[in-house]
Amino acid sequence: MAIDHYDTVVVGAGFGGIRTLYELRKLGLTAKCFELGTDVGGTWYWNRYPGARTDSEAWVYAMNFAPELKDEWNFEERYPGQESVQRNLSQVVDRFDLRKYITFNTRVSTAKYNEHSATWTITTSEGTTVTCRYFIPATGPLSVGRELPFAGLKRFKGEHYQASKWPKQHVDLRGKRVALVGTGATGVQIIPKIAPHVKELTVFQRTPNYVLPGRNYTIDEHQAAEIKQNFQKAWTAATNHPFGLAMEDPNLAAGNVTEADTLRQVLDSGWESGGFHFQFETFSDLFTDAKSNLIASDYLRNKIRAVVKDQKTAELLCPNYPFLSKRPPCGHQYYETFNRPNVKLVDISKDDIDMYEDGIRTQSGSDYEFDVIIFALGFDAATGALCEMDVTGRQGLSLRDHWEEKLDTFAGILVPNFPNMFMVCGPHAPFGNMPVVEEVEVNWIGKTIEHMEREGFTSIDVPSKAADAWSTHVTEAFEATLFAESAGQVHAWFVGANVPGKPRRVLFYFGGVPTWNSWLEHETKTNWSSMKLGSAQSNGHVKA
Ligand code: NAP
Repeated sequence: MAIDHYDTVVVGAGFGGIRTLYELRKLGLTAKCFELGTDVGGTWYWNRYPGARTDSEAWVYAMNFAPELKDEWNFEERYPGQESVQRNLSQVVDRFDLRKYITFNTRVSTAKYNEHSATWTITTSEGTTVTCRYFIPATGPLSVGRELPFAGLKRFKGEHYQASKWPKQHVDLRGKRVALVGTGATGVQIIPKIAPHVKELTVFQRTPNYVLPGRNYTIDEHQAAEIKQNFQKAWTAATNHPFGLAMEDPNLAAGNVTEADTLRQVLDSGWESGGFHFQFETFSDLFTDAKSNLIASDYLRNKIRAVVKDQKTAELLCPNYPFLSKRPPCGHQYYETFNRPNVKLVDISKDDIDMYEDGIRTQSGSDYEFDVIIFALGFDAATGALCEMDVTGRQGLSLRDHWEEKLDTFAGILVPNFPNMFMVCGPHAPFGNMPVVEEVEVNWIGKTIEHMEREGFTSIDVPSKAADAWSTHVTEAFEATLFAESAGQVHAWFVGANVPGKPRRVLFYFGGVPTWNSWLEHETKTNWSSMKLGSAQSNGHVKA
């Protein structure tokens, strides 16, 4: 049987994959995209749980690769809901006629580099085999849901749902006794959304989070016009912001503020602005200074105590670790929900749970009966989706085995000995607002491929020296934060500590988008001087 050959194969049709497809077609390359879902959207296709919405503001949680996108931008809320984002991505795909390159319902099983032809062979769950010159996994940093680790689950007689695989059909929770396990950003969105409809909601919390009030609002016509007018300005600000958000560094260290009133006013202003304005527009040193962080942590704990009426519940909801050790969720009436008479919090910080026939049983012997259990246990972040595929580079090197031993990348995009593989939002990419990160990243991938095509190079690889330099920098940037240790202790996913058995190391770059971008720009400005570029005759071994 003839095997189809493409210039490029992209895996995943979420933000990253769609943006990549556009870039490749712009360069005139042939492209095939494989997507496991039945439609585009990636995380916004799968995570259709009640209450799912963005935690980034709508003006920077979009695509911005062509002027039409700004004109057609039509989000109606500050934090658009799952359906809106998925619809928006679907519209983008149709607007730029990209759907025809995507094969849905298909999982990529293996990707193997062929040294002699400098090509990749890709096989899928459907039994298709294709070859390509450039292999571009855009599989998402948070796309593989954690397996449910409960041996007793099969005995449970009620219904159970996993937030990251929420069914397409409506799930009727009205009048039911519901349990929610997991209080990260996902659980925090589900809780207030379902609480008014269920008979009883019992939240099982292992580690409390600092939940920031989102303060969502509807965007009216006037505001929409203003957003469009300032769209480019917001994107420039976001590209210059360490975490890819249109926010301004306050240039203020808490230690330099002597007046207690001023300290409180600054924190009040962050709290009232809503969402991530709290950590990025109050004090510049929250990430690095223990005293400053403690001031913010205390402030947040006091807010929890002020909102939650039952003080025992309030104390259980108060984290006892430095703010930002875990990625703070954005809540919408989260703490207020615990004042409802039908909502109960169960502390399982020292008491493991499992399921039995009628519900959840704690290790200490308490039984709770439920009709429905919802799990929001998080993801195998950054490396999970890439390692789910069987990816083989030079000399049969397995990506999975290699990363088990050593996680090295160049800028979260290239991996030594995996030539012509460009990861979109791979491990070591900046921690932050992904659409902005992806815009910078895919632009660079496009420029790199364009350079190779123009100059006749058939392969690009990153020498270990260059990958080591970046990977060391990633570690150093993380170690400069004050939560380098506490993140592991509180199971933060950005260090892999939420998945039992996963090596603990920083999986994202905390040095900021602008610095990361300067590493990328150094390559474009110096003709990719740190990379190994090869031509057909040289079989990929000659430096440019
Ligand atoms: P998560 O932050 O990893 O939270 C998982 C939760 O499950 C934690 O509360 C965890 O407790 C709990 N858990 C895990 N295993 C457990 C067990 N065996 N028994 C009891 N509890 C257990 O996952 P997530 O909430 O899905 O969020 C992950 C990330 O996805 C977010 O931080 C965010 O970046 C992204 N996200 C974004 C949005 C948005 O932007 N709108 C929404 C949702 C998610 P421990 O803390 O004790 O481990």
